[in-house]
Amino acid sequence: MKGYEGGNLRGFRCANCGLVTATWGLACSRCGHPELVETELATKGKVVAFTILTVPSEDFLNEAPYAYVVVELDGGGRITGWMPTVRAEHEIEIGDRVHYVTGYKPGVQFSKDSGTQSPG
Ligand SMILES: [Zn+2]
Repeated sequence: MKGYEGGNLRGFRCANCGLVTATWGLACSRCGHPELVETELATKGKVVAFTILTVPSEDFLNEAPYAYVVVELDGGGRITGWMPTVRAEHEIEIGDRVHYVTGYKPGVQFSKDSGTQSPG
């Protein structure tokens, strides 16, 4: 089976200190080195911050409410994305395991890993 989770996330790695970031900048945010090399990011990670958005931007009008999340990827780097399956604060927690899914909607879309949630 292929296709559903076959997408890649692109990011950047500092040629000097190795910092991995999902956000392109003119220079490394840690050491200031100007050479950032494009790299492939991990597609799995954990939620480090989230907000439930009930007033979306135009692209997401039909999706609200949804969670806007900051995910710390397993291989390094933080990326912001959204989770259409999360519609209320009690449906998500800091530290939740999530994975990137390729979708037809704009933005970086994440979904919770199944079977890894602690009871309760
Ligand atoms: Zn650096």
